[in-house]
Amino acid sequence: MRARLFTILVLMQLSLGAQDLRVVITIDDLPCANCAEGTWASVNERIIDALRQRDVPAIGFVNAGKLEQEGHLDSTRLDILQQWIDAGLELGNHTFAHRGANIPLAEYEADVRDGERHLRALIDASGGTLRYFRHPFLQTGPRPGYRDSLNVLLNDMGYTVAPVTFDNDEWMLAYCYEHAKRANDTSALRSLASEYLHYMDAVMRFHEAQSQAFLGRAIPQVLLLHANTLNADHLEALLSRLVDRGYRFVTLEEALKDPAYQLPEQHTRHGYSWIRRWQLAAGIKPPWPPELSEKVQELYNAFQQH
Ligand SMILES: [Zn+2]
Repeated sequence: MRARLFTILVLMQLSLGAQDLRVVITIDDLPCANCAEGTWASVNERIIDALRQRDVPAIGFVNAGKLEQEGHLDSTRLDILQQWIDAGLELGNHTFAHRGANIPLAEYEADVRDGERHLRALIDASGGTLRYFRHPFLQTGPRPGYRDSLNVLLNDMGYTVAPVTFDNDEWMLAYCYEHAKRANDTSALRSLASEYLHYMDAVMRFHEAQSQAFLGRAIPQVLLLHANTLNADHLEALLSRLVDRGYRFVTLEEALKDPAYQLPEQHTRHGYSWIRRWQLAAGIKPPWPPELSEKVQELYNAFQQH
């Protein structure tokens, strides 16, 4: 009896131990998200360094509009993208002006096409391919028909949609962090950094649990982060926590080979995790993901009112 129990325990452990945990790191709003003038290059340098140290095959999503100042290409900003390419990292299209999918489809399409400005030539020159598209705010369309038409357009333009599963509000925390940085408020910086790592742990635990509950296994997850000062300072720590959780870093191409990414998606106008979209399409109403502390939410709202 005892032997049998032992066997069961070992098998359980084996099946848990055999879980192949994979994650894709995706970094949006390149060349820089809400960064202070003069810090763009160093923010990216530090993010690229953290990625290279762990051989992370990350992908950055670019807003080509940020490469221009008053309608003219700013070559120092284009240089930042070249640094990504030189580091062996991939780049994708995140539209020109980062507009949500609540505008006429023709305008949205134009924003996608304008998103290739400067970017396509840079990628072509490096021998790479511009092949992934990330929706701003993860909004895929206000109505199912819009979403479907947009998907056809994107496909015709040669794009694969880059979904997100480890969805989170890092952008909100990063906004407060940037304020604290400019105010040189070291105690706020410390507490925001600590909340960042704890919050992201909770985000990972939540989505891992949803993946297990819905699919009975761990899928290759896709983490959404932004090119901001918060990550320039703390991406290294975040990556190290992912490694501690048992993850290895893979390309978006590898992750999307998992059949989960072919599952039907519930239409939503919101920027939900793709796991949530699959669950809703299957008639499951999942719990809501973890939230940032009230303190950070209030801080963010206060900044918005100024
Ligand atoms: Zn974005």
